[in-house]
Amino acid sequence: MNVISNHMPTADLQRLDAAHHMHPFTAGSELAEKGARVITSAKGVMLTDSDGHQILDAMSGLWCVNIGYGREELAEAAARQMRELPYYNTFFQTTHVPAIALSAKLAEIAPRDLNHVFYAGSGSEANDTNIRLVRHYWAQKGQPDRNIIISRTNAYHGSTLGGGSLGGMSGMQNQGVPVIPGIHHIDQPDWWSEGGDMSPHDFGLACARQLEDAIKQHGPDRVAAFIGEPVQGAGGVIVPPDSYWPEIQRICDDYGILLIADEVICGFGRTGHWFGSDYMGIRPDIMTIAKGLSSGYAPIGGSLVCDEVAQVVNDAGDFNHGYTYSGHPVACAVALENLRILQEERIVENVCNKIAPYLADKWTQLTDHPLVGEAKIVGMMGSIALTPDKAARAKFKADAGTVGLHCRGRCFDNGLVMRHVGDRMIIAPPLVITESEIDTLIDRAVQSLDETYDLIRAEGLYQAA
Ligand SMILES: *Cc1c(COP(=O)(O)O)cnc(C)c1O
Repeated sequence: MNVISNHMPTADLQRLDAAHHMHPFTAGSELAEKGARVITSAKGVMLTDSDGHQILDAMSGLWCVNIGYGREELAEAAARQMRELPYYNTFFQTTHVPAIALSAKLAEIAPRDLNHVFYAGSGSEANDTNIRLVRHYWAQKGQPDRNIIISRTNAYHGSTLGGGSLGGMSGMQNQGVPVIPGIHHIDQPDWWSEGGDMSPHDFGLACARQLEDAIKQHGPDRVAAFIGEPVQGAGGVIVPPDSYWPEIQRICDDYGILLIADEVICGFGRTGHWFGSDYMGIRPDIMTIAKGLSSGYAPIGGSLVCDEVAQVVNDAGDFNHGYTYSGHPVACAVALENLRILQEERIVENVCNKIAPYLADKWTQLTDHPLVGEAKIVGMMGSIALTPDKAARAKFKADAGTVGLHCRGRCFDNGLVMRHVGDRMIIAPPLVITESEIDTLIDRAVQSLDETYDLIRAEGLYQAA
């Protein structure tokens, strides 16, 4: 067999890819026609593709490469661990040093009494764990009928059957999910798209109070938990109005239901705090973690669990749940090294005090552009809403996402990875991005917006619905 290497011509790599590789969240045939972009290496915030182009990765891969690409220390940690103990499981009363060390470190970093961690290989798996964990918890408390979980439309909680059922993204529904019974969705707090004539404050309260209505509808003794991302990520970096999370917390407290914060994106410095829950001032009972936990260098996720829930589950005999790779030693060693770097280089503090304010200043100025309605930003995650009419917060007449897709294409060609969610453009750059790299990001974004503006006017797409 021929060696498949970076030195093969791009077209050959693309042909082999199209022949044998089914891609996530991708129309396979369409991709086969165009050929996938082949990324060959990366350093800091810059990707290099197989044609030698340099692309600024303003999405940190998939929101995960928090410390940036090319950190030798993580490669060393992985190699060291592979040599010493490449694998052992954590089932049946065994453990190993990397899992012990990472668990203790996470307990130190996590807020309050989230002192216990159940490991998974990804965020999706961790949310599957959470479904079982909260239902098992209430059953052990003598309330087996308390099994309903309330989530939100346009939420993203992963792509397994459990994660997909918890999530509320329209594009995923009717492709095999939702299948888990007992999951109820309330509206997302997206004021720009759905707030109508309400003020953001009133809209935030109204959305939160849908939780209370849902609890009353099902019966307060039937609802096990509420799950939400502190800031919705994949849904389009939807930053809820300030009134939203305090009201959600009040309702969870009043009815004694568990609060699950899905911190897969918000965790590990993304918001300028260690966790999005800290930023929002909420007190979750369980947090889902993954992505930035290892900066994406190794696949690992988990559930951070408070003392009370862990105690009940631990006292209930075997919890018949787990993954072969729960607490994988190499992934734990990599995550631990990642956390060491985040702490010792004071990366989260630097985001909060220096880099996020710098980015926010530039990002919010994008609203001067004729195409840009609102610009939202929390820490190192931001979004802009593209609109043909700012004052009316109008949508485009063309199918949702048409203009966004054009803009994403312009960005790629200008050496910038910026993602589109419908007609929102989103960024989540590595936390280590510098001020001059932010200037480059903004320059390329503005150029891409200008080109998109010209393009959609030429094509007759600059029309309100
Ligand atoms: C990415 C993501 C997940 C799923 O994580 P995977 O590692 O892709 O399974 C879950 N929740 C949120 C909020 C995410 O952004």
